[in-house]
Amino acid sequence: MKEYEDVRDQLLNMLEELDDRLGKITDDVKHSDTPLAQDFSEQATETENDEVLDALGNAARSEVEKIKEAISRIDAGTYGICLGCGEPIKKERLAAVPYANQCIRCASSKPQA
Ligand SMILES: [Zn+2]
Repeated sequence: MKEYEDVRDQLLNMLEELDDRLGKITDDVKHSDTPLAQDFSEQATETENDEVLDALGNAARSEVEKIKEAISRIDAGTYGICLGCGEPIKKERLAAVPYANQCIRCASSKPQA
């Protein structure tokens, strides 16, 4: 799998970055360094912030899953093959989205939730 070693490195770097980001988001959600506000209106604002942070966290977590999946596909030798049609995914697409698991045609015909 020599040809994908660079991609693998790149994916591992992305994972580290996301882990870092997720760690920060989690710290914020836990209010580790700021005690919960006593005032009700301030509390409401903090809850809204938590929801935004949660959404960010969920997006980062689903990206982490995709990246891990891509790394295991590299290890299994199935990286770069479209899960939809079994055709090779174009290099340009993999360069833009290294963890893509579908070719552009399949990805656009069956939008992911
Ligand atoms: Zn396809």
